[in-house]
Amino acid sequence: MRIIIIGPQGCGKGTQAKILSEKLKIPHISMGDLLRGLTGELKEKVDKIINKGELVPAELTIKILKERISKEDCKKGFILDGFPRNLEQVKLLESLIKIDKVIVISIPDEESIRRISGRRVCPKCKFNFNIYTEPKPKKEGLCDFCNIFLVQREDDKEESVKKRLEIYHKETKSVLEFYKDKVLKINGEGTIEEVSFKIWNFLFG
Ligand code: AMP
Repeated sequence: MRIIIIGPQGCGKGTQAKILSEKLKIPHISMGDLLRGLTGELKEKVDKIINKGELVPAELTIKILKERISKEDCKKGFILDGFPRNLEQVKLLESLIKIDKVIVISIPDEESIRRISGRRVCPKCKFNFNIYTEPKPKKEGLCDFCNIFLVQREDDKEESVKKRLEIYHKETKSVLEFYKDKVLKINGEGTIEEVSFKIWNFLFG
């Protein structure tokens, strides 16, 4: 089962991808995480682009993705989060591998900005908390697992979020059009359980 999860920042796609990954026992591959996990000179270049809220060049993203999905744990499938983001990436992906289902989670822009501006991440284990929505840290400002201070991602600041949303709306239409026969559209304003239930029904109901 090869699944794509698409949605604006803060729609909960990372959370849903993680739930699905645990249920289906296939990896959750987040392009954002792969890019943030780069090292050396390339990291410096990529970080600059990410911090501005812009898209990293497609050739680089597909190269990183190709390497990741050729690993043993992807043999039974995977859940792609944050890729493809535009038609250029769709075409690169399709020339590599065929996708079975596409899940689109939508939320209004104002909600996206609210959720993202509340996001805090642990610099060590990378777990995402939120000061407004679940999961909130048990102790204010501290990671539940590592007990160190949480930080705000540079690209989670309001200006960057607005730019990322603009790109999202502009570029996603063509992706949805391409996959229209495989798409489920879900309102992401429900609870985590409600959204997860709808996704499961769509895939296996
Ligand atoms: P995310 O963690 O999904 O919010 O992604 C964070 C940032 O990583 C984005 O704002 C982009 O700068 C970069 N990025 C993630 N996925 C892609 C992609 N498919 N193509 C280009 N850049 C990406």
